[in-house]
Amino acid sequence: VSVNEWIRNVIKPEQVEKYLNKGQDFLDENLIKQTLLANQQPDKERIREIIAKSKELVRLDPDETAALLNCQDEELWQEMYGAGLQIKQNVYGRRIVTFAPLYISNYCVNSCVYCGFRTENKASRRKQLTMPELEEEIRALVAKGHKRLIMVYGEHPSSDVHYIAETLKVAYSTKEGHGEIRRANVNAAPLAVEDLEILRDVGIGTFQVFQETYHHQTYQKLHPRGLKANYLWRLYALHRAMEAGVDDVGIGALFGLYDWKFEVMGLLLHTIDLEEKFGGVGPHTISFPRMEPAINTPFAEKSPYIVNDDTFKKLVTVIRLSVPYTGMILTARESARVRNDVINVGCTQIDAGSNIGIGGYQEDSLAYDKQQFILGDNRSLDEAIRDMAKMGYITSFCTADYRCGRTGGCFMGIAKKGKIHNLCMPNAILTFKEYLLDYASDETRAAADYLINQELAALPSDQVRETVIKMLDRINQGERDLFL
Ligand code: SAM
Ligand code: SF4
Repeated sequence: VSVNEWIRNVIKPEQVEKYLNKGQDFLDENLIKQTLLANQQPDKERIREIIAKSKELVRLDPDETAALLNCQDEELWQEMYGAGLQIKQNVYGRRIVTFAPLYISNYCVNSCVYCGFRTENKASRRKQLTMPELEEEIRALVAKGHKRLIMVYGEHPSSDVHYIAETLKVAYSTKEGHGEIRRANVNAAPLAVEDLEILRDVGIGTFQVFQETYHHQTYQKLHPRGLKANYLWRLYALHRAMEAGVDDVGIGALFGLYDWKFEVMGLLLHTIDLEEKFGGVGPHTISFPRMEPAINTPFAEKSPYIVNDDTFKKLVTVIRLSVPYTGMILTARESARVRNDVINVGCTQIDAGSNIGIGGYQEDSLAYDKQQFILGDNRSLDEAIRDMAKMGYITSFCTADYRCGRTGGCFMGIAKKGKIHNLCMPNAILTFKEYLLDYASDETRAAADYLINQELAALPSDQVRETVIKMLDRINQGERDLFL
């Protein structure tokens, strides 16, 4: 089929209409604006009450999130930063889940003005991995110690759902040395329910679609043409994923396109709508990428809404407090300095050793004309792990929840009760041990080994501790991929 014919068949309006409330989407802009206005200058006591509610791991209501966003008191912000860290430690422990982004294809029919891959960008060198090339990329990643991927695709008939499914199969079946990819997440364009079922059947991890901006008018302006111009098809992309049984979904907003407070409110309303429609199960992760420069893409540097480092830390904190039990992803778009700081207000996942050029891992090169934007953090996986260890964080490559079927509602049930420790911390220790044995440099091993004993000592019961110690012995003797 021609590109135009393909485009005409992608969007299924009836799959959107069923989720509308009396023809309206859940993103009520007037409500957001009024809520932000009605909660200006919140007093100290109110902010502290809201912080206390978050610490109970209860999701905030829009007026509470609005009050936090409007806080002007530096002392209270310090309290919020502390609370963000505390909540994260309570729910997820001192562990950071680590993954690599893998860009598979940059052919794209869309015209997002901020993106280096937009169809009009003649400075972008187009490339789509063949299956043998993909296998080489995966080998290069596994050889560095990676176990988890986010696979990224432009929107184009050549990278349709069948191609995505093929690439997932390759990701799961490629072995290298002691290792393999154990969880492959996907960031791709919105799909129809029947296509999402295909991805469910090949074992997709999390399906991510970022709304970019929740503000309708801005959305229309920045996505002037192509499939992505359809705001509603995108807004309900993750509802369709849940409907298709892909029950770990990742929402996100691209900060820098519109007012940051509005976008945080949008993320919250999106969470609430998913929770309401899917039996209390909201997003598995929330992402908050900041717009970065991209080749031949002037908008990315001149937008009036660019968010500075200080505001970035605040917005991440408010997201943490608003949805205390959800995973939060801090990407290598940010510099190492910003990441080392912001990770402490409640982030649970980072990418590391990232290369976002297509074919970049085997070439081990930085080619800006094959990248969507330019990364801020170019530390290797080993360096990032060492830095995390120095800050007291164990790096987890754990994928057990997903492989034991603890996804969606099951995972959320455990997270909301603050009970992840019993399973996730043991699994973090086991996967970290594998990394230290198989991939770490001497320097990292020396800096990070202490964490194993520290976290063993912190496990909730002697019984769990004994089990983990036995499993560590088996890993020392050469077994791999043990988990609870
Ligand atoms: N093409 C699919 C889409 O747009 O949903 C998926 C892949 S797209 C390459 C992944 C994400 O990258 C987008 O959702 C957007 O938030 C982000 N992105 C695009 N341009 C960016 C830029 N200049 N800086 C930072 N992030 C950017
Ligand atoms: Fe294409 Fe996604 Fe880039 Fe938009 S953000 S141009 S859809 S790759």
